[in-house]
Amino acid sequence: MPRSDFQVVIGLEVHAQLLTTSKLFSGASTSFGGAPNAHTSIVCLGLPGVLPVLNQQAVELAIRAGLALECTVAERSEWSRKHYFYPDLPKGYQITQYEFPVCLGGRVTFDGADGEKSVRLTRIHMEEDAGKLVHEGSVSLVDLNRAGTPLLEIVSEPDLRSADDAVEYLKSLRDILVWIGVNDGNLEEGSFRCDANVSVMRHGSNTFGTRCELKNLNSFRFIKQAIEIEATRQVEIIESGGKVDQETRLFDPQRAETRSMRSKEDAHDYRYFPDPDLPPLLLSKDRIEGERAKQPELPRARRRRYVEALGLPAYDAGVLTADRAMSEFFERCLAEVGDAKQVSNWFMGELSRLLNESKSTISQVKFTPAQFGAVLKAVKDSVVSGPGAKELFADLFATGKEPSVIIQEKGLAQVNDDGPLLEAIAAAMAESPKNVESYRGGNTKIVGYFVGQVMKKVGGKGNPKRINELLVEKLKG
Ligand code: ADP
Ligand code: MG
Repeated sequence: MPRSDFQVVIGLEVHAQLLTTSKLFSGASTSFGGAPNAHTSIVCLGLPGVLPVLNQQAVELAIRAGLALECTVAERSEWSRKHYFYPDLPKGYQITQYEFPVCLGGRVTFDGADGEKSVRLTRIHMEEDAGKLVHEGSVSLVDLNRAGTPLLEIVSEPDLRSADDAVEYLKSLRDILVWIGVNDGNLEEGSFRCDANVSVMRHGSNTFGTRCELKNLNSFRFIKQAIEIEATRQVEIIESGGKVDQETRLFDPQRAETRSMRSKEDAHDYRYFPDPDLPPLLLSKDRIEGERAKQPELPRARRRRYVEALGLPAYDAGVLTADRAMSEFFERCLAEVGDAKQVSNWFMGELSRLLNESKSTISQVKFTPAQFGAVLKAVKDSVVSGPGAKELFADLFATGKEPSVIIQEKGLAQVNDDGPLLEAIAAAMAESPKNVESYRGGNTKIVGYFVGQVMKKVGGKGNPKRINELLVEKLKG
């Protein structure tokens, strides 16, 4: 039976590190890097007799994520101990949420291959991260810098039906979490990571097959590749009359294969029970609603508004909302100028170019929206020419000086006054009476020559349109 007779089924478990300054149950720093075991405390080290104290900033971020992902935020959730032995887990258990997680339900919407799709979320819970082992020759060293870092685990229902959709789901989820300031979205550093549960079933079947959980997926490309390779492996087993074993498998990108790590552990193996050191997490309606009131407009909604209300092309809307700070700055500039497409052109053109060139981000720009507005006004009022405006903007970008000052310092003001222009015209005509005759004899193209002469006389700063008008008038005689 060919591969095309099978359908892949995917459910994802995402671990997203919360952007808190300190750990979930201690004051130790969560900053990345640092000397091994520098960011630890007696709590992270699991010393006997110490007690965990819940970080309220982590709770706030979890509520924020739950609301953005359309979950029901639980007014009562519980902390559990999940027991296993590993040297990077000094307590011998991980504090997590099991029976009663902080968020239930919810959804993530994304653009799939056949249009907009929504994947249901099962739950979101909070938990602490473990440390890591560093293997050096024949010894393994323990670094507990990451131990106790707050994580959100976001579990999806098995709603995904292709590796491509799985990647789009993850990108959409990551965009939201980064947008709301809950996570930094870094797959390489592991602050946003994902395990993929994969099974296959025949098309039209309504019973899911046995799933395998894939680990070590630290880029979008690997996630797609691993899911496809694993689905093919499972189809081949079934086709040859075999049975898929439920297990945890490691993806090996070098060999482009998944291989068995361990058979799937059952929940009872972890001997979960409520942590006696921590009271249930109680969230008042007021606290949840207070967070809801602070919810920003989310990226998808904003993109739609840019297209529908501001009349921007979908492409512009996508670029402008790729980054929340960029989008927010765009809106402040738009408030100064009022013409969305004009502002968008400057953002996608000159501003993007200058940001790239200087390798800086929007939050580092030196100019204010009012100054940006002043540049556009100078163009509109013909104070500066088109090329002059680009020069003005580049200087504004580099220095943050007032546009009016830059115009003066750089001599960017166009001569719009008829006085000096008429003087220059009279001089140019007096210098070449032959060409004046030629014009009057019907060679009207010669006006170009005079525009050049006049422009030279006013130091290149004449308004070309006005020079042309005045010249035609004078040359006619
Ligand atoms: P565990 O904690 O043991 O990993 P869960 O019940 O929390 O188990 O499920 C983990 C993930 O597995 C969820 O994302 C879920 O959608 C997914 N899943 C469950 N059954 C299947 C299946 N048959 N095929 C693919 N994914 C599945
Ligand atoms: Mg799992």
